[in-house]
Amino acid sequence: MPNKIPVAKPDLSGNELKYLINCIKDGWVSSIGTYISKFENLFTKLTNCKYAISTSNGTSALHLSLLGLNIKKGDEIIVPDLTFVATANAVSYTGAKPVFVDSTPEYWNIDPGKIEENITKNTKAILVVHLYGHPANTDQIEKIAKKYKLFVIEDAAEAHGAFYKNRPVGSLGTISCFSFYGNKIITTGEGGMITTNNKSLATRISFLKDHAMSAKKRYYHSIIGYNYRMTNLQAAVGLAQLEKIDSFTSKKRYNAALYNSLLKDLNDYVTLPPEMPWAQSSYWMYSIVLKPTGNYTRNKLMSYLRKKGIDTRPFFIPMHLLPMYRQKGDFKISTLLSKNGINLPSSTLLSEKDIYYISKMIKMFFEKK
Ligand SMILES: *Cc1c(COP(=O)(O)O)cnc(C)c1O
Repeated sequence: MPNKIPVAKPDLSGNELKYLINCIKDGWVSSIGTYISKFENLFTKLTNCKYAISTSNGTSALHLSLLGLNIKKGDEIIVPDLTFVATANAVSYTGAKPVFVDSTPEYWNIDPGKIEENITKNTKAILVVHLYGHPANTDQIEKIAKKYKLFVIEDAAEAHGAFYKNRPVGSLGTISCFSFYGNKIITTGEGGMITTNNKSLATRISFLKDHAMSAKKRYYHSIIGYNYRMTNLQAAVGLAQLEKIDSFTSKKRYNAALYNSLLKDLNDYVTLPPEMPWAQSSYWMYSIVLKPTGNYTRNKLMSYLRKKGIDTRPFFIPMHLLPMYRQKGDFKISTLLSKNGINLPSSTLLSEKDIYYISKMIKMFFEKK
């Protein structure tokens, strides 16, 4: 049995260490330094956006974006029910209310067909999440946003390098947010980024993230701001990671194709990760959903794989089932996906041998039944 195969592990084998040593030697370890602007500039190219603003993490990027759009108490924001909790929490930080919408069974993201029935006179924005790396259906969302004059905010924390049609994720909304947590497609340890083409929004967000200090008068603050800055150390790692993003995304896609070819015979038991004709997924997490038939359960498969030295993750718990957001409603698909979904090992450091082994163990589990 091999050592435990992790779900995620960062590849830090490029210029990360070299750039970090430069920071230490030069003494620029805090939130001023050349790596910050280098990282931000290169990020504008990835997303084809005019402005990229680094932040302390993905959650602060979401919070700042909402603040930048002047979202506040009394407002409502459409959020997918099936997401990581940070998406909903960032809305709550502003005093606004996240309004949860079910997923589509086709590609697991927010169901555009269920958005309109949740729009009220207080709705200000649709916050889309590109779950596990698969982009949301942008044309349909834009159409609704236009009709009701809503902002589109992208939570692209899981989808660096993904595309909707020919448009890169990060350029699909009024404003977009990324995370660089350790298990994300590129990492800075902790970190985040906001991208937009709107100059006044970019200016307001840069102001808010740095204590809302006046650009003209030092230590003059007209409103209560935040410290949501990234450090030069984080940006040094981020720049080195971003230099290699093309190889990371092509490895993720290669791994997904290999998993798909090895698991396709299990059609009776599992649904493989979808990729719609209009989408190019980043396959942040290679995910499968067990078909809720037969005498097995998702948790049994997870513990079986754990015994074989393979680490996995369950899908997120839908927001409507968490204590602070608990509510009744039409969440059939998100509930079903959450109960039956598993993220398999998805690191770019996986070998073909690992993927053959993992697939073989999954097959063994089902064939024993
Ligand atoms: C990771 C993640 C976040 C939060 O990012 P942090 O950097 O951990 O704050 C937000 N939304 C989604 C969908 C995520 O996966």
